[in-house]
Amino acid sequence: MTLSHLIFASLLYTLPGAVVLLVLVLLGFMDWGAFLPVLPVLYLMVFWISKAIMSDFRRVAAYARTLRDLEPGEPPQGVTVGAAAELSFLFTQLNAAHLRNGEQLQAQAKANTTILNNLPTPVLILNGDRQVKGFNQSATRLFKHVLHGQDVTRHIHDPIVLDCIDDVLGGKDALAETEMVVSADSQRFYDVLIARLPETAPDDMSLVLTFSDLTELRKMEQMRADFAADAGHELRTPLTVVLGIIETLQGVGRNDPKALESFLPVMRDQALRMQRLVEDLLSLARIELNENTPPEGEVDLQHTLNKVVTGLEVKAAEKNMRLTVEVTCADTLTTGDESELDQIFQNLVDNAIKYGNADSTVTIALHPADDPPPAVQRHQYKQVIAVSVSDQGEGIAKEHLPRLTERFYRVDTARSRAVGGTGLGLAIVKHLVQRHRGHLSIDSTPDSGTTFTVYLPLREQDRPELRL
Ligand code: ADP
Repeated sequence: MTLSHLIFASLLYTLPGAVVLLVLVLLGFMDWGAFLPVLPVLYLMVFWISKAIMSDFRRVAAYARTLRDLEPGEPPQGVTVGAAAELSFLFTQLNAAHLRNGEQLQAQAKANTTILNNLPTPVLILNGDRQVKGFNQSATRLFKHVLHGQDVTRHIHDPIVLDCIDDVLGGKDALAETEMVVSADSQRFYDVLIARLPETAPDDMSLVLTFSDLTELRKMEQMRADFAADAGHELRTPLTVVLGIIETLQGVGRNDPKALESFLPVMRDQALRMQRLVEDLLSLARIELNENTPPEGEVDLQHTLNKVVTGLEVKAAEKNMRLTVEVTCADTLTTGDESELDQIFQNLVDNAIKYGNADSTVTIALHPADDPPPAVQRHQYKQVIAVSVSDQGEGIAKEHLPRLTERFYRVDTARSRAVGGTGLGLAIVKHLVQRHRGHLSIDSTPDSGTTFTVYLPLREQDRPELRL
C-alpha cells in the first residue's frame, strides 16, 4: 500500500469519529473551539495506527511471498496485530504441511522408480509423439541402447504393435494387447500390453507398454506337442509290425505253423517294446506330478547300489561285463524315496551295460563330494554325497551332452532301439534327481567311456528335535 493510499484510508477511518464529534458540537456538548484542534489529532492517531497495522500485514505478505517462491523464510518477528500474527502462523503451518507432502511425494516417486527398476518385466513409457519418456532396467536388456526422447520405432519394428500404439494414442482404445517376436540371439516371444495413462500424468507421459516374456510358455507348448508326436511315433512302429504280422497270419500264413513260430518272438519283442515305452511314459508322468514335493524317507545308498548291481549282474554277464561298487565314504545315508533312487541307479547302470563295451567293467563309486557343482551348492547342504557310474564304452560326443536328458533324445536311435531303449531313461533320471534336490552331471570322453554322477545331500544324523 502506497502513502497516498494510507492517507486516503486514514481519512476514511477518521470519518466516523469526526461525525460523532460534530454531533456532540451540534448538540451543545462540545464547542467549536475544542472540535477543530481535536480533528487533526484524531486523524493523526488513525493514520499512525493504520500505518502500524499495514506494516504488520506487509511483513506477513513478504513472508508469504518467500514461501511461495520456495525460499527459506523466517516468520516476521514482533507482529503486534493479532490477525496478522495468526495469518503468519498459519502460513508457517501451511508451508510445513506443503514440505511434508513434497517429501512424501519424493519418497513415493523414489519407491516407484525402485519398484519399476526391479520388475522383471520390461516397461516403456511414451509421450503422445511415440517418444520414449521412461523405461526400467529390464527394458534396457530387451531394447539395447534405449534413450529418453528416442522414437519408439527405433526399437519396435513390428507393424501390429505400432498400430496398437497409434490406436491407444488416438483414443480408439484405452488398452491394447498383442504379441511380438524379438529375434536377437534367439527368438523370444512377448505379450505386449499398451495402456493409456491419465491426462494428468506428468511430463507429457501418455502410454505405458509392458512386455511379458512368453518364450518359456511357448517352449513348453512346443515341447508338449513334440512329446505327444514323439510318443505316438515310438508306438506306431511296433504297432505297425504287430498288425502286419497279424494280417500275414490271417492271410497267406493262415495254416503255416512255421510262419507262426517265426513271427511269435517278433510279436513278443514288439509288445515288450510297447510295454517298456508305456511304463516309462507313465513313470515320467507320475514323477512330474510329484516333482515339487521332495521325498522325506531315509535311504542307505550303499544298500540301494548293491541291490541294483545284484539285479543287473545277469544282464552284464551276457556281455561278459563286470560291475564293481567302490565305497569311499563312511556315511552313506541320504534323504529320499527308496524305489525312486533304485530307479535312478537302475537306469544309469543299465545304460552303462547297454552302451559299454563287451568284456569291460562298469564302476559304481560312492564318494563324498568335496567340491559339488554350483547347482548343488546353492542348496547349502552341510555335506554332499556323489554316486558316479562309469563305463568303458565308445563315449558320447560333446555336442550331445546338453540334450541327453531330453525325452526321446538319442545319439544313435537305431542302436538305442536295438538294445531295448525307449529314449526316456535319462529324462526319468533327471526328473527323479531334481525331485531329490540333487544334480546330475555327465562327463564323457569319446572312445574311452562315460561317467554319470548323481549328487545328493547327505542325511543329517544329528538334526535337532523339532520343538513346538
Ligand atoms: P535309451 O533308452 O535310448 O537308452 P536314455 O534316455 O537312457 O534312452 O539315453 C539317451 C541316449 O543317451 C541313449 O540313446 C544313448 O544314445 C545315450 N547314452 C545314455 N547312456 C549312455 C552311456 N552310458 N554311454 C553312451 N551313450 C549313452
